[in-house]
Amino acid sequence: MSTAKRNLLEKVWDAHTVRELPSGQSQLFIGTHLIHEVTSPQAFAMLRERNLPVRFPNRTFATVDHIIPTDSRERPLADPLAEAMFVEIEKNTKANHITFFDEASGHQGVVHVMGPEMGLIQPGMTVACGDSHTSTHGAFGAVAFGIGTSQVRDVLATQCITMNRLKVRRILVEGELRPGVYAKDVILHVIRTLGVNGGVGFGYEYAGSSIENMEMEERMTLCNMTIEGGARVGYVNPDEKTFAYMKDRPYAPKAEAWDRAVEWWKSMASDAGCSFDDEVRFDAATIAPTVTWGINPAQAIGVDENVPTTESCPEEERAGIAEALEYMKLQPGGPVAGTPIDVAFIGSCTNGRISDLREAARVAQTGKVAEGIKALVVPGSQDVDRQARAEGLPAIFEAAGFEYRQAGCSMCLAMNPDQLVGDQVCASTSNRNFKGRQGSPTGRTLLMSPAMVAAAAIAGYVTDIREVLK
Ligand code: SF4
Repeated sequence: MSTAKRNLLEKVWDAHTVRELPSGQSQLFIGTHLIHEVTSPQAFAMLRERNLPVRFPNRTFATVDHIIPTDSRERPLADPLAEAMFVEIEKNTKANHITFFDEASGHQGVVHVMGPEMGLIQPGMTVACGDSHTSTHGAFGAVAFGIGTSQVRDVLATQCITMNRLKVRRILVEGELRPGVYAKDVILHVIRTLGVNGGVGFGYEYAGSSIENMEMEERMTLCNMTIEGGARVGYVNPDEKTFAYMKDRPYAPKAEAWDRAVEWWKSMASDAGCSFDDEVRFDAATIAPTVTWGINPAQAIGVDENVPTTESCPEEERAGIAEALEYMKLQPGGPVAGTPIDVAFIGSCTNGRISDLREAARVAQTGKVAEGIKALVVPGSQDVDRQARAEGLPAIFEAAGFEYRQAGCSMCLAMNPDQLVGDQVCASTSNRNFKGRQGSPTGRTLLMSPAMVAAAAIAGYVTDIREVLK
């Protein structure tokens, strides 16, 4: 083995390369494969057509998240298409001896919330899932790829995927985050600065004192949205916080195996003095509570800034800015703070974890949901829900006028009954503000942190969380 200093991505890549292909791509072995009901049925069908078995059923884990209603779970589901997907994943997991974390397991949830909770994601591992936001799992020092349906087929059949080797950009965030500024604001700020395509061809290594100070759930928020900046994967080097989070999780190594694993995990972290293909630095003190005003996550500004005008932007960006302004119907040049909302959504694989709910509940205690606002709180998993109940959070939300629901993707992508209507404006903790993302072709999404969404629900409009937390 080479003694040259390597970063984590290089080490993980080398350790999982089965062979280099004539195309120049690497054939990579996948440690953990996560599946859900939306992208797996076609993959299983392709396997059946070729009469192929699942190669390593003990390395694939399933749950149901996108289509599951967050109010009534009664079967059959009211939507026949959703019910058909549900039945399909039940059949496929049973027939192929794959563990299925359904509601009866007590661990059902958004796939990117469930995986880490179960200890299925470990440092130095390769992870794949037929879902864009698989980058979430890089928070553990794993290299985690969102893959397409034909690659889901490949992983089921061979436990491998073919990938082009990625360059690595180190994103350094140094210093203390200011009050009211969260991991969500950091990643929106990074994407705003580098653009939605800025990371194409790269994996992002997040480092620096701000990242080291983040808890695991904050690191998951950060890595979750990496894909929105064009980078295929994002990761944080494993440290004592990583190991503390993983200890005693159901699938984490136990006893002596734990000690051996920790040694190996530490060895997979980027070597001191290793090189990167690029490096970008951010000063944490310059990051404000951030909110999107447009139709992609880079169209974001500090809550105290004004929505841009087309004239204020470089020539090459004007068409995109004009399209976003027209769709969002916000006042060009006007403040984003004060923008009225119709719906508030707290949940998703970005911000549906217990620390997110705690932070939102803290704000919910400051008032009542404004007249006419629909406000939803959706735990990311049944485990998050159990913890929230143990801490009395549902009662806090309900007393403030929020609806507290059951675990699922809910209104993030709205492949279930939780959807926007007409051109409603939704303050959302999720990760995409694309046109029509939340179920209505004219619905409008403003991305922000859970505390900011809770504050907007109470005020009825976009609010600077720093004013509320004073
Ligand atoms: S919460 Fe949203 S982004 Fe995450 S897996 Fe579900 S639909 Fe996808």
